[in-house]
Amino acid sequence: MKILLVEDEIKTASYLQRGLRENGFVVDVAYDGEDGLHLAQERIYDLIIVDVMLPHRDGWSLISELRRSGNQTLALFLTARDALSDRIKGLELGADAYLVKPFAFSELLANIRTLLRRGPARQPETLQIHDLKIDLIHSRVFRAGRRIDLTPKEFQLLVLLARRKGETLSRTVIADQVWDMNFDSDTNVVDVHIRRLRSKVELPDQKKLIHTVRGMGYVLEEEL
Ligand code: CA
Repeated sequence: MKILLVEDEIKTASYLQRGLRENGFVVDVAYDGEDGLHLAQERIYDLIIVDVMLPHRDGWSLISELRRSGNQTLALFLTARDALSDRIKGLELGADAYLVKPFAFSELLANIRTLLRRGPARQPETLQIHDLKIDLIHSRVFRAGRRIDLTPKEFQLLVLLARRKGETLSRTVIADQVWDMNFDSDTNVVDVHIRRLRSKVELPDQKKLIHTVRGMGYVLEEEL
């Protein structure tokens, strides 16, 4: 699970980052709203924890900007103010939960676990692209009604491409998401897995769904 923490108080940020890492999360930290927004747009997170009062761009603006661009990543606001108007404003702007400072770390952890269990509200149970069907509940894949056996990594790769249908994903983004690694040096791993995945989901007489975008990466869509 990957978390983006946007918090300008250095001590708080490093305390939270350490705690979250100890609990098994991968954590990136941004210290102002602009950097936070940039990271949130560049990378994929399971959750964004964002302080309301931030330099350059406040937490409200960060999340509303993300929502405007269609990004539905779960957002947990940290606010020092407990005003009702703040909560209403935040919920309208797309916050999923609130935590009022000061809070105990265990309280934050409980909130995170509840949110991640719930997941984004719009998460579908199946993904369908042309005659390719992905059953996310049972981790099964069908093409034209025929079951396809995939390894866990191939499945993750296919789900990533399908969730972001029509969007070209770079090898770096894919490596980061599927292997949880930043490797610019060995993105060949991605190519190898794409090749294997294609050989399974695209038989010679079937429509091509996974396309190579030269110099950019890969995209899954019906037409290119
Ligand atoms: Ca702050």
